[in-house]
Amino acid sequence: MSSENTTPVVSNFIRSVIDDDLASGKHKAITTRFPPEPNGYLHIGHAKSICLNFGLALDYQGQCNLRFDDTNPEKESVEYAESIQETVKWLGFDWAGEVKWASDYFDQLYAYAEELIQAGKAFVCDLTPDEMRAYRGNFSEPGRNSPYRDRTAAENLDLFRRMKAGEFEDGSKTLRLKIDMASPNINLRDPVIYRIKRAHHIRTGDTWCIYPMYDYTHCISDALEHITHSLCTLEFEDHRPLYDWVLDNISIDNHPQQIEFSRLELLYALTSKRKLNQLVTENRVSGWDDPRMPTIAGMRRRGYSPAGIRLFAQRCGVSKSENVLEYSVLEGAVRETLEAEAPRVIAVLDPIKVTLNNFEPGVTGSRSAPFHPHHPEFGEREVPIAQTIYIERDDFAEVPPPGWQRLTPGGEVRLRYSYVIKCDEVIKDADGNVIELKCSLDPATLGQNPVGRKVKGVIHWISAEHAIEAEVRLYDRLFNEPRPDAVRGEDGNYVEFTRFLNAESLKTITGYVEACVRDAAPESRYQFERVGYFVTDRFDHQPGGKPVFNRTVGLKDSFAK
Ligand code: ATP
Ligand code: MG
Repeated sequence: MSSENTTPVVSNFIRSVIDDDLASGKHKAITTRFPPEPNGYLHIGHAKSICLNFGLALDYQGQCNLRFDDTNPEKESVEYAESIQETVKWLGFDWAGEVKWASDYFDQLYAYAEELIQAGKAFVCDLTPDEMRAYRGNFSEPGRNSPYRDRTAAENLDLFRRMKAGEFEDGSKTLRLKIDMASPNINLRDPVIYRIKRAHHIRTGDTWCIYPMYDYTHCISDALEHITHSLCTLEFEDHRPLYDWVLDNISIDNHPQQIEFSRLELLYALTSKRKLNQLVTENRVSGWDDPRMPTIAGMRRRGYSPAGIRLFAQRCGVSKSENVLEYSVLEGAVRETLEAEAPRVIAVLDPIKVTLNNFEPGVTGSRSAPFHPHHPEFGEREVPIAQTIYIERDDFAEVPPPGWQRLTPGGEVRLRYSYVIKCDEVIKDADGNVIELKCSLDPATLGQNPVGRKVKGVIHWISAEHAIEAEVRLYDRLFNEPRPDAVRGEDGNYVEFTRFLNAESLKTITGYVEACVRDAAPESRYQFERVGYFVTDRFDHQPGGKPVFNRTVGLKDSFAK
């Protein structure tokens, strides 16, 4: 397993359980698992679960399995399974041994089902889904026994074998546990553990036409893998009695402990594969890895680093209370990790032309600048000056607000790594838009303070003849609404979350960057000084061609009100 995970350890209730289990000798070592269903790309909520499960295994020198919960063949694909493996590795983790699949256990799961039938603890039921719902009761009313509940073990065994053999139509029969139709816990009201479904499975092909249900599969898979602590989100709390019931009623000698923690929710994002899938299939985004998506693949393409996501996961904490976080917490963690890691270069994204009237070729000098103020080992490069330079449009104000320290008519400002300049003249087009500034530089100020006056402002700039053009994709939040899937309309129903998509979430512009970035590899992260963090696009940026940058995050919290 990777040891790159250096985020400091913060205790939580799950660690306390593990500490006790190790101290009491209940376990000598721990085994956890991350059990995704390969029905979509992983999102930020999964990152929390990955960091928790793999992180615990690392800290306690135990092991963590990657196990695909592949029991819904219609929704699962090899593409999803591959992306999930790639994502776990990219986050800096590795699983113990081979990748595991619930489908590896289909034979054993089937054998345990026969065992339950023989013990009179499971029966084949012919109720239709509608009938089953009616028999189930609800929170205030107990359910009623299925009329098929009293079939003999021999009859059940025969029917179950014929289900497996493909004698019955899809959905016409199920295998159910015989627990208690009056249980206050609806999960214990004779839950279905097998259904008939003729669907091609990514691993087992057409071998099976019956598939086990999640609750039945999960606990047995955990036990077969000798998982010690099976961590899941709180919505499974009510399923725990079923998890335990199954393991207590089959001949398995090992009983993992299920522990629930609260699921992460991120404001302005969605943490549901189904809803993210909808954005993809409706072409609301360019794909699962669109940099605006809260998927790990999207965040990667956006330029978030594994360390940033791990730091965020650590800040989420682990508890049973609500875990709703602001996007700024995620962005803050990303920014913090990029601060020290990303080399700094200059880019002007919204240029205004500046002509330096007294520029003298061969006399006006350039300086070199470090790629990072605290990392001399990142190296330096020359920042060349020329008669025509670009500065950022919003670094000039014709009518400056109070306290303005940047450029203004008649005012002075320092060009980063270069001279102090003064704005002598403002040139406008016929509509009154500023199109050029004529400035003069003070030749005595290269690396020197101006004499007799203080110039406080420093702005970035780039030489027009030395700069190269880059495609720059400016990403903003995907939704305008903090909880896009939780807004109710006047009729009391949920409003379709796509209504809250931010129409301004992507702007593509041409910016000017230093020529040294042209040869950057895809996924190179930079700070554009004073502007933000940017990454060369993983797929569209070709070294040597016109660079393609994605904005990762600004330098300051853009979500702040
Ligand atoms: P989704 O609804 O997005 O499909 P899921 O829980 O059905 O989520 P799985 O593939 O079954 O997706 O999840 C794998 C693991 O990740 C599970 O253990 C699950 O509890 C955990 N997980 C999923 N979403 C979150 C979340 N928002 N916060 C923390 N853990 C999560
Ligand atoms: Mg699931």
